[in-house]
Amino acid sequence: MELIKPDRPFYRGNLHCHTTNSDGAWAPKAVIEAYRAMGYDFLAVTDHRHVSIPTPYMAGSMLVLPGIELDYALPQEVVHIVGFGMEQDILPRLDYERGPQNGINVIRACGGRAIIAHPHWSLNTMATLSAFHDVTAAEVYNTMSVMRPDSANILDVTAAHGRLYPFVASDDSHAYAGEQGISYTMVQAEALTADAIKAAMDAGLFYASQGPRLKRVAIEAGRMIVECSPVERVYFFSNLVWTPGRIIQGKDVTQASYALHHAEGERFVRCQVIDAQGHSAWSSPVLL
Ligand SMILES: [Zn+2]
Repeated sequence: MELIKPDRPFYRGNLHCHTTNSDGAWAPKAVIEAYRAMGYDFLAVTDHRHVSIPTPYMAGSMLVLPGIELDYALPQEVVHIVGFGMEQDILPRLDYERGPQNGINVIRACGGRAIIAHPHWSLNTMATLSAFHDVTAAEVYNTMSVMRPDSANILDVTAAHGRLYPFVASDDSHAYAGEQGISYTMVQAEALTADAIKAAMDAGLFYASQGPRLKRVAIEAGRMIVECSPVERVYFFSNLVWTPGRIIQGKDVTQASYALHHAEGERFVRCQVIDAQGHSAWSSPVLL
């Protein structure tokens, strides 16, 4: 089973950012130009409770996608849902009083895809995360949530109890003070169109990164195999707290593998690679 295929192009995109239409510092035009100038292939503009981009269009070589961020307050936590790729006017159909699953359902009904934003920053619990359905991914890393940017732990706990979220990484840019262009998602779409991006994400053909490239990720002959740009560390995570051979370290490591432990009850596995600059790339967790 190949999770990342070596023979398909990748498109690099940020699926979460804000403009002056909500609490972002820059106008939509400036935000789009900044990401285009950084060489991004696609960008979803996801203002709070506001759709800034009604339909997809090409800004030069970059695809700009409609998006929105919905927010809900639950006892002791918040839930933020990013929607992107909607094809209909979502605003009149939303009912914030009905909670986050309603937002997810409306995003989907409008042709979009839903992402759980920054679950660690939001103090989301395993029970909350386990209850959602029809969600395309969760943000394993959110650049703007500087105090709790990394959600791998709560997503691993949730996965260990049976609910796997594929991983994206996003900037959630607001201030444009250096957080833009740090965390992104690489999608193996067949073309640079909204439909192709959504289809590839439905098929799980994407990974999260801050720099390292995942060239191939596969489950083969009882092992998880990763091929990547040169890194210093490769970590394999699963629901088992301790197993041998899950940390590979060295200079310019470009491939690594991990023997799976079916007999010990291993149910999911994922990999994270970290380069010499400390930048990570993450595969999504895979159900075994
Ligand atoms: Zn946001």
